[in-house]
Amino acid sequence: MTTIVRFAPSPTGRIHIGNARTAILNWLMASKTGGQFVLRYDDTDTARSTQEFADGIATDIAWLGIRPHRVEWQLRRFARYDEVADKLRAEGRLYPCYETADELDRKRKRQEARKLPPVYDRAALKLTGEERARLEAEGRRPHWRFKLDGRVVEWNDQIRGPQHIDTRSLSDPVLVREDGTYLYTLPSVIDDIDFGITHVIRGEDHVVNTAVQIEITQALGATAPTYAHHSLLIGADGKGLSKRLGSLSIGSMREGGLEPMAVVSHAALLGTSDNIHPCADYAELVDGFALDKLSRAPARFDEQELAQLNAKLLHHLPWDRVKDRLPGDNEAFWLAVRGNIGKLADIDTWRRVVAGPSQPVIAPEDRDFITVARALLPPAPWDGTTWKAWTEAVRAATGRKGKDLFMPLRRALTGLDHGPELAQLLPLIGPDAVLERLT
Ligand code: GLU
Repeated sequence: MTTIVRFAPSPTGRIHIGNARTAILNWLMASKTGGQFVLRYDDTDTARSTQEFADGIATDIAWLGIRPHRVEWQLRRFARYDEVADKLRAEGRLYPCYETADELDRKRKRQEARKLPPVYDRAALKLTGEERARLEAEGRRPHWRFKLDGRVVEWNDQIRGPQHIDTRSLSDPVLVREDGTYLYTLPSVIDDIDFGITHVIRGEDHVVNTAVQIEITQALGATAPTYAHHSLLIGADGKGLSKRLGSLSIGSMREGGLEPMAVVSHAALLGTSDNIHPCADYAELVDGFALDKLSRAPARFDEQELAQLNAKLLHHLPWDRVKDRLPGDNEAFWLAVRGNIGKLADIDTWRRVVAGPSQPVIAPEDRDFITVARALLPPAPWDGTTWKAWTEAVRAATGRKGKDLFMPLRRALTGLDHGPELAQLLPLIGPDAVLERLT
């Protein structure tokens, strides 16, 4: 049986690192099993869903290297949902309710006062045909609730282990609104059945939904998929991410110049038993992927750690993997500078250092030293051994060593106190520019 997974964002905003983690875990599952990945837009909330957000999500997951095999929109499937809802109505599993939001609120308050659980009392099930007709004549339109079995739903969660939820502790969920539109619960089940979804990997905020959705799936005569609920990410401050976007959105990470594979590696390995390390492509992540490596504890996401991972990824990135993005540069330059950048865009600093314009810094007390050094520059052509030969000659002539020897040369050549190995930079800067900078 082919594994088919789905990532089901609501296009009511852009995705952040937490949503991206869900997408990536699903992608890894599909890749590991040679399966398929469905991107499903849960756009039943027409007031808040927009095409722009949907396009943004598509861009974000493409940037993360995810290539859906199929894309679906819930809004286009209402005829199918109507058909299934009618079947549930005919079987008495979907029943009309007429309470207003205010009335439901009052019921809940009364239950609270009596220390009863705030579970819907199923009053609507007791309405006679006459009472319903009267309510409708008053202009009320029903919303529709699914009649739960009131039993313990069990499943073997691939991350959380065996789960049991007693649906007697839950209100019969509303599946259809007064205006005939659907809440997410039923369409999700129908889609999972119709698209042959074998594994639902999603956040643990859906665990209770799962009990309800398993009951609905069974009411529809289908077999429930395998479920895996991962823990949610929390920020460095210990708070959940869901309400905050900003720098945590995938869009801002892209615009901020992070490497997609740094984001992917971080999201994929966070909260697992594996060390977080940069992977330059999916192959290694797919190899090591297993749902049971994910911890049940919330995983802490720290932007600082992601920035460090991004730097680490670049520090070891071979020229072949970046050359298309650096058309004006060459391999020797890349190898010289990659260890000194946090983001690819930082490479600009080193381009200026190599090609100019550069601002040499020569302290008054180093002027004579620099003049001596200049006179000792080896003849061209220069290569990787030139720096050593030159500085040994300068040391012999001036008696300077260590920092006193190297720092004034570095400042004069680059204008900076730190940076790539000068042995590598020197031939890149070249004899003419070096002569000029030492003048
Ligand atoms: N649209 C839901 C969400 O974003 C999907 C949940 C699911 O994966 O079923 O939370």
